[in-house]
Amino acid sequence: MTAHVLIAGAGIGGLGAALALAQIGLKITVLEQSDAFGEVGAGVQISPNAYKVLCDWGLADALKQTANFPERLQVRNVRSNKLLGQLEMGEKAQVRYGYPFSTFHRADLHALLLNAVRQRPNVELHLNAKISAVAESNQQVTVTTEAGNSFNADALIGADGLRSRVRQHVLGDSEPRATGHTAWRALLPIGHVPPELQQDQVTAWLAPDSHTIAYPVQQGKSLNIVYCDENNGQIGQFNGVNATQPAYLLPKQLSKVLQKVFQTATEQNAWTRWDLFDRPPMTSSTNMFNPAHPHIALLGDAAHPMLPYLAQGAGMALEDAQALAVSIKQNPNDLPSALQLYAQSRWQRNAKVQTRAARNGQIFHAKPPVSWARDAAMGVLGKKIMDVPWLYGYV
Ligand SMILES: Cc1cc2nc3c(=O)[nH]c(=O)nc-3n(C[C@H](O)[C@H](O)[C@H](O)COP(=O)(O)OP(=O)(O)OC[C@H]3O[C@@H](n4cnc5c(N)ncnc54)[C@H](O)[C@@H]3O)c2cc1C
Repeated sequence: MTAHVLIAGAGIGGLGAALALAQIGLKITVLEQSDAFGEVGAGVQISPNAYKVLCDWGLADALKQTANFPERLQVRNVRSNKLLGQLEMGEKAQVRYGYPFSTFHRADLHALLLNAVRQRPNVELHLNAKISAVAESNQQVTVTTEAGNSFNADALIGADGLRSRVRQHVLGDSEPRATGHTAWRALLPIGHVPPELQQDQVTAWLAPDSHTIAYPVQQGKSLNIVYCDENNGQIGQFNGVNATQPAYLLPKQLSKVLQKVFQTATEQNAWTRWDLFDRPPMTSSTNMFNPAHPHIALLGDAAHPMLPYLAQGAGMALEDAQALAVSIKQNPNDLPSALQLYAQSRWQRNAKVQTRAARNGQIFHAKPPVSWARDAAMGVLGKKIMDVPWLYGYV
């Protein structure tokens, strides 16, 4: 009999899992709490490791229609705009890792996955389906939604994000950790930004306690800009809230090019504020699969939320989804073993990425004299420091 799997959440991770599991022939039901499918109006970097996963799912042609392929990653000083280091991407990334380094508007990437999922007759998608309770009995999992509807299946995948209801059921641990860091995001029409920022590259400007990242998305039609800082108070209250540029940004002596972009984003009322949460790096596979709940596993931010400073949260969710399908394909008649093997195959990599993401924050936001040493090292070893073969070259 075909196994039936429930997936909580239709974010990038949930849709990736739905597609991967549908491709191996399972019956899938996706439950999404929102009243519409979608993603936030911001950019996302998809590095070669995650791009490979999407290509393995047959999405290579669709990806090319919406992706940007940055020619390089650059690191600059926030005040002088001086180049500190750079790593060639473009064709070179393709040669080094077999897959390109890419950037997307999130809505485009999400729509691409949704479209692929919708073409699968073995996937059912439900909106307005906020899971409020989970129960287990007789080799089955039952979830109940706030509207009072119940769904039964052979397994449940918690891809329901940072404040996962499924995680609460299987791990019962504390709330995610308020890191004290905040991301301010804006998306600007490319014609409204200085010419040097219209180039297809990812640029990071470093400063004590903050950094800014910018890259074009929507095949060069918009510039995605993210300003991240720490310790600015009122932490934990803002999630995608439209926000005016905080007054403390401008006096920070930004370079002219950044001042221009920040002013434009403020004039266009384009900033949204996101307070950032994470969890400590996972310490065992139990963080993704608790043997006491053998028909349930966690994936993506539900399992391993992290700071965005390695740009890998969505990438790890996609890798999780692929690993889950591989594991179930190898153990089609024993879902608990398949879920356990999935967690065992994933937790160490996810933990390493969580750790490195937090460490990148410390490096990006270093103060003098540490920042002087960092900048000097960038000048000599920039390429080596910025390249992460263990991450990008993962197969
Ligand atoms: C500023 C910023 C920049 C980032 N940049 C990058 C980047 O460049 N590259 C990268 O790879 N990652 C990046 N990330 C991380 C990435 O956005 C996340 O890791 C990724 O989106 C997680 O996907 P997910 O599907 O696991 O969770 P989510 O996207 O949170 O999806 C969870 C889904 O579950 C639904 N849901 C929640 N609760 C329930 C419930 N009870 N019942 C039913 N449905 C429910 C939600 O509505 C949502 O649709 C960034 C994050 C931030 C904050």
